[in-house]
Order: sequence, then C-alpha cells, then structure tokens
Amino acid sequence: MTTADDIKASAEALAAVLTDMRAGVAFTGAGISTECGIPDFRSPGGVWTRNRPIDYQAFLASREMRAEAWRRRFAMQEVFGEAEPGRGHRALAQLLSDGRLQGIITQNIDGLHQASGVPDEQLVELHGNTTYATCLDCGTRYALDWVRERFVPREEAPDCAACGGPIKTATVSFGQPMPAAAMAKAGALSAECDVFLAIGSSLVVWPAAGFPVQAKRAGATLVIINREPTELDAIANLVIHADIGEVFAAALRL
Ligand code: NAD
Ligand code: ZN
Repeated sequence: MTTADDIKASAEALAAVLTDMRAGVAFTGAGISTECGIPDFRSPGGVWTRNRPIDYQAFLASREMRAEAWRRRFAMQEVFGEAEPGRGHRALAQLLSDGRLQGIITQNIDGLHQASGVPDEQLVELHGNTTYATCLDCGTRYALDWVRERFVPREEAPDCAACGGPIKTATVSFGQPMPAAAMAKAGALSAECDVFLAIGSSLVVWPAAGFPVQAKRAGATLVIINREPTELDAIANLVIHADIGEVFAAALRL
C-alpha cells in the first residue's frame, strides 16, 4: 500500500531530479495511460488479454484474419476514442515545453502524447499508432472512419484504393520489423540524455527495454516510475513504486 507519506517522499525525490535535469528523455509504456481508461497489457480481463494477438504473418496471409483484426480494432474504439491525456502525459508535455526534456520515446499506440501537445518531432513511437491506418504496400494513410465505412456492410477488410495492397492500423505487430528510423532516433536520444525517465513499463518487451540500459551505460541518471517492480529496478538510480499520475501531480504541483 502506498501511503500519503510515501507519495510525498517519492514526489520530493522526483522533483529533485527534475529540477537538475537539462536534457532528459522519457520512455513511456501502457502504465501512463491506465488512468485515461486504457488498460495495460497485463490487467486481468483487459481487451489485450482476451484474444491472442494476430501476428504480422497471419494478418498478411488471410483476408479473414484481416477482417478479424478490424473487428477487434473497432470493438476497442469506445476505449481509445474517448481517452484523453492524463496527469503523466501533461507533466511530460510541460517538461518538454520548459526545455528540460529533449524527447519522449513511447511503446504506446494510443496517440495520447500528441493529444497532450507533444510535437511529432519530439516523439518516437516504437510500436506505431492505432488511431489511423496505412497501406502496407504503398504507405497511403487512411482515417479509421474510411476503413470502417467499407468494413461494416459485409465485415470485409478493405484494400488500398491506390494500389490494392492490404490496409492495417499503423501499429507494429508481433513478427513485424521494428521501424528503423524510430529505433535509430530512440537510440540517439538514449545515448545523449542526462536523465532517463522510464514510466509505466514493465520493461520486459525487447528491444524497447534496451534503451534504459543504454542510457544508464552512457552515464545518465536512470529513474523508474512504476507501481510494480520492473526488470531493471536493480540498475536504477531512483525507483518509485507509485501511481504515475499521483506522483507527477505532487512533484510538479499540477
Ligand atoms: P505492460 O503492460 O507490460 O506494463 C505496464 C506497467 O505499468 C505494469 O508494470 C503496471 O504495473 C504499470 N502501471 C499500470 N498503471 C499504472 C499507474 N497508474 N501507475 C504506475 N504504474 C502503472 O506495458 P508495456 O511495458 O508498455 O508493454 C505492453 C505492450 O503493449 C507495449 O509494447 C504497447 O505497445 C502495448 N500496449 C499499449 C497500450 C497503449 O497504447 N496505451 C496499452 C496496452 C498495451
Ligand atoms: Zn497502397
């Protein structure tokens, strides 16, 4: 149980790091978005745990799998469509605009960092974005509403209007190569930061979880904020086991 005193002490420790931070980087996972109503990967009964994920090869291999992927995506729209940035997103947006944070690397696909005002050039999305779709062959971008209009009548996955290729949410599926430009940018940010804030990630998904290790090796102060222990607690300079929104609200007086 986290008491009010624990939160106060954690917030003070975090505030001390944030005050000295000059070129920080934040790395965020599903935990920063749970207070916005989007369950994290491991919550029991969450949308993510009910179905085995459709991997990239299966998606490409059959039209039926593509239809199933779209069925699931539109079923989740109630959750994703209504979500608004939380206190953690707002705190990071403020640190960016203050110039204390250089960038945010996220594993999330919910678009909530952008919604909190973070410019695209300061955000690295390692696993893409589920709030729009792209053609896998020619890259044409589609709004989800465009896909939905064509999907709904017969529950058939539509193909690209320009080239006939398969259309998929702009996320990175299991079995799909990691986006090279995003990986390179995340690596550069991790190598150059003075403070690395790992927020709301169990830090078990690789290669993404390699960035905190890289930052620490390059001399950064590693801060981990997560309500449960993570794989990398042992190498961190500061570990805060508390609610993300609460601790940022107290540290930055949001
Ligand atoms: P994860 O589920 O592995 O870990 C989330 C961590 O956040 C957990 O350890 C949990 O204890 C912690 N947490 C949850 N709510 C918290 C809170 N309010 N305060 C403090 N800690 C909290 O998530 P992950 O490591 O980010 O990996 C899951 C993968 O699934 C990611 O790669 C991501 O692409 C995807 N995913 C994305 C979203 C999203 O976009 N919002 C949601 C679920 C899963
Ligand atoms: Zn196309």
